[in-house]
Amino acid sequence: MSVVERQEWDVVVVGAGGAGLRAAVEARERGARTAVICKSLFGKAHTVMAEGGIAAAMANANEHDNWQVHFRDTMRGGKFLNQWRMAELHAQEAPDRVWELETWGALFDRTKDGRISQRNFGGHEYPRLAHVGDRTGLELIRTLQQKIVALQQEDFRETGDYESRLKVFQECTVTRVLKDGPRVSGVFAYERESGRFFVLEAPAVVVATGGIGKSFKVTSNSWEYTGDGHALALLAGAPLLNMEFVQFHPTGMVWPPSVKGILVTESVRGDGGVLRNSEGKRFMFDYVPDVFKEKYAESEEEGDRWYEDPDHNRRPPELLPRDEVARAINAEVKAGRGSPHGGVFLDVSTRMPAETIKRRLPSMYHQFKELADVDITAEAMEVGPTCHYVMGGIAVDSDTAAARGVPGLFAAGEVAGGMHGSNRLGGNSLSDLLVFGRRAGLHAAQYAAGADVRPPVHDADLAVAEEEALRPFSGDPAENPYTLHHELQQAMNDLVGIIRRQGEMEQALERLAELRVRAARAGVEGHRQFNPGWHLALDLRNMLLVSECVARAALERTESRGGHTREDHPTMERTWRNVNLLCRLTDDATGVGLDRETTDPIRPDLLALFEKEELVKYLAEEELYE
Ligand code: FAD
Repeated sequence: MSVVERQEWDVVVVGAGGAGLRAAVEARERGARTAVICKSLFGKAHTVMAEGGIAAAMANANEHDNWQVHFRDTMRGGKFLNQWRMAELHAQEAPDRVWELETWGALFDRTKDGRISQRNFGGHEYPRLAHVGDRTGLELIRTLQQKIVALQQEDFRETGDYESRLKVFQECTVTRVLKDGPRVSGVFAYERESGRFFVLEAPAVVVATGGIGKSFKVTSNSWEYTGDGHALALLAGAPLLNMEFVQFHPTGMVWPPSVKGILVTESVRGDGGVLRNSEGKRFMFDYVPDVFKEKYAESEEEGDRWYEDPDHNRRPPELLPRDEVARAINAEVKAGRGSPHGGVFLDVSTRMPAETIKRRLPSMYHQFKELADVDITAEAMEVGPTCHYVMGGIAVDSDTAAARGVPGLFAAGEVAGGMHGSNRLGGNSLSDLLVFGRRAGLHAAQYAAGADVRPPVHDADLAVAEEEALRPFSGDPAENPYTLHHELQQAMNDLVGIIRRQGEMEQALERLAELRVRAARAGVEGHRQFNPGWHLALDLRNMLLVSECVARAALERTESRGGHTREDHPTMERTWRNVNLLCRLTDDATGVGLDRETTDPIRPDLLALFEKEELVKYLAEEELYE
């Protein structure tokens, strides 16, 4: 009989970023006793790092904006592989989610007439990103935290206990979703500080653990992004959707080496920053793909006029979707026209007065001053692609956020797949977190309320989870988890990175298989009290599983689309438009298998939002016929 401490809740939310907190608020407001559990300190989720803003068609900066235009932009950005129902709900509900944040105390930047200000971003037809300088994620998390505290105070007034209906377990890591037969019954977790194990029992679990960037060497992502939620779902029996689509943000810092990968927000370009190569040329004009030609300026003069008069000019190509810009930078560097440290130049200094730069981009100003000793008001930044976001994720029902095939499991935020298709537009993540975080919380609470009995947690499963978590302490420490992590990051960067080739991905799968064998021998010294080596040894299971999903799906998709570029299959193929790739754990749980699935046809009224000439570029022959 296991002696691990157990607590009973209705809904457990794993992750306290934007998606997790929004889900928790909703679940608690719907009457569910809700626990939130997060690996980092409460308030220090990855969402805090979000800079540019939240995309929502509020039409504050351009009256022509509406949800239909936002839907169109999102589908174009994702190259029509998006789960279209998610893209529809997202575009329709994002404005309400932003206004709601205001009622909870968020302070957005304002227009001159006092409305929420909205800024330009790549791939968005109109200025659409509600923002707080370049610190939007911080304000989002601060507001949601404040809302949680307000709900806890309400509960205290009624029950005398702040945590009676909503409790946060911070600095605790979940290592397993527990099940009774096919249904979810709770989670197994450990406290990072003490190493103590505990169980939160609940009929509904919302996974909101964010992304996977720490499997790559150069990344904008924070330490938490080890793909835990993706792996937890996979291990619980849920499939992962389209994991080949990994976004390489075009502008990460490239120098000095210690800060390589740190993000340079897209708002730098949205606010007028331009990209130049070593010859001083604004090279993006040479990289506008056919599908976007009609929408982007042909000359620098037209592009520059667009900032003042967007209704009569086309946008500059620096504001193409991220995948296009990242590939263009990669090509310039490869052609020998890069900056001294292997990137290109991003310049605001000749485009805006110093005071405007400091006011609109305060974090960027400080980031470069302090980390690279570069004054961005006086000289150009050096930037290059960095692994930033994963579009693939847990396959969910578009309306309810329920994970496929595992009753009681829900997912929202970056860990969920489908919403962004093959490439996410900037600003569409924060809105995604709010829209689908709310939906996940709502449906998890309804599911928990409808559960006739609480699925039991079985002692045998706890024993297995404990044994798995303690394994790195047993025997000789034959393999060092830090070495394994380093080798994994190098392999993913070199072999499954921004430009992919069949032979290299096959090599990556071989490397991953070797690393998995070695990771089973990863060992640590010392004890369970705050032991980062042990934590990493446990995270390795997740990073390796998720990396295998990325490599397998990338090898299978023989075309280039969005965040998946194949040198050996350089074009986007219409026949792949309606193909989803689903990764599942193999029956013997030793690896990952892959299935193909045809997507649901896009609803005719949504297709009618596009010109036929545009659809011809994306849709397969039979889809057009229908
Ligand atoms: P997160 O905010 O990362 O939260 C994940 C939570 O899960 C954390 O609390 C973590 O501790 C917890 N967790 C993880 N694993 C476990 C585990 N095993 N057990 C317990 N807890 C766990 N998007 C935009 O739309 N606009 C922007 O301007 C923007 N700017 C960005 C700037 C930067 C520098 C970066 C890196 C990203 C940016 N993004 C932006 C993307 C966006 O920030 C993320 O996609 C989004 O914040 C993800 O939110 P989330 O709620 O899904 O996950």
